[in-house]
Amino acid sequence: MAESLINAIIARSRRTRRPRLDTIETIQTRESYLTMSATLQSELQARLGALIDPHSEQALGEAIRVSVRNGRAAVRVRLNYPAAGWHAELEQLIEQTLMHDHAVEAATVEIETEHLAHAVQGGLSPLDGVRNIIAVASGKGGVGKSTVAVNLALALQAEGAMVGVLDADIYGPSIPRMLGLSGKPETTPERRILPMRSHGLQAMSIGVLVETDQAMIWRGPMATQALQQMVSETQWEALDYLIVDLPPGTGDIQLTLAQRIPVAAAVTVTTPQDVAIDDVRRAVAMFAKVRVPVLGVIENMSTHLCSECGHEDAIFGQGGGQKIAAEAGLKLLGEIPLEATLGRSTDQGAPLVGSEGDHAIAGRFREIARKVAARLSLQARNQAIRMPKIKIVE
Ligand code: ADP
Repeated sequence: MAESLINAIIARSRRTRRPRLDTIETIQTRESYLTMSATLQSELQARLGALIDPHSEQALGEAIRVSVRNGRAAVRVRLNYPAAGWHAELEQLIEQTLMHDHAVEAATVEIETEHLAHAVQGGLSPLDGVRNIIAVASGKGGVGKSTVAVNLALALQAEGAMVGVLDADIYGPSIPRMLGLSGKPETTPERRILPMRSHGLQAMSIGVLVETDQAMIWRGPMATQALQQMVSETQWEALDYLIVDLPPGTGDIQLTLAQRIPVAAAVTVTTPQDVAIDDVRRAVAMFAKVRVPVLGVIENMSTHLCSECGHEDAIFGQGGGQKIAAEAGLKLLGEIPLEATLGRSTDQGAPLVGSEGDHAIAGRFREIARKVAARLSLQARNQAIRMPKIKIVE
């Protein structure tokens, strides 16, 4: 009985599979069309995968997928770093690449962002509520490290990430002024410190926890202990990046912090003068000692940009930052000019990237932020943190 049922099914499927004479042509057309589509799809996949991401300087490869049906292409890109300011250009580039082929009649592009957590120095546990800590360092004071730190944090935020700033510059905490923080932070019943909020950022500074003149007299071990306590007792909330403004220099305090704060990567800030090369080298050596990757150099005050007429003058000569970065074996992530509006806005508690988003310098910071995050995304991942967040942007 069962056998006859099976036979009946086989017979029926043979009947339905066997094409009638008048449909053979249609099937052949459809099959050749499908083969054509598959060939086209793999050709387009190869072409799109070969597009270079200017921030990571790597081919998009597997991060971009295309499927083709009836002459319509659907493209999906997954980026592991925030790049809202690049999406429109990327979409255009993809569309141009597709439309180059006359077989593609229409295309849709979807870009997703997934922020990953990256490995920290061996033996350290990642901070609760923080995917990645990026340290901003400089070989010496006065190069604009804090200015770069806050504007970089705001730029990462503008690109689509959740960002915090931690001011660990114990001898000159300028983040409270630059982010307009005042008063004392609140604490939870469990005695954890709640970060303060400013311009959409979560922020904490040694400057709002203790009197500055009190902190100034702390010796090395006391200072590092206080800083470490501030790092571990602040209750950060779902941050993709926490920017840590380190004290300038490469002494014991900096080394201890670089050793004890679970940092994913560092960037160094320098001015273009030749004398800065030794400072950058020292900073690189310090991070190498504690096995923290240095993503590159940000050159501050590379040129002078007149805020009245927009004229840019290489008052310190040209290519200084490039030379310093190359000699230290690092990538130059970008150049920020000396410009009155940038200094003034940041010193008055309304940093330019947040307050004047259309300013050309805000654009430069955003490009640097994309490069920093893209280069970090190439580093080893931290398997200990699993808080997936997929954000469909477009
Ligand atoms: P650091 O943290 O290295 O000690 P700061 O970020 O506090 O340096 O900067 C020192 C001073 O220089 C601040 O008054 C700041 O506003 C100003 N400054 C820094 N970078 C620039 C720049 N690119 N253009 C104009 N002023 C700047």
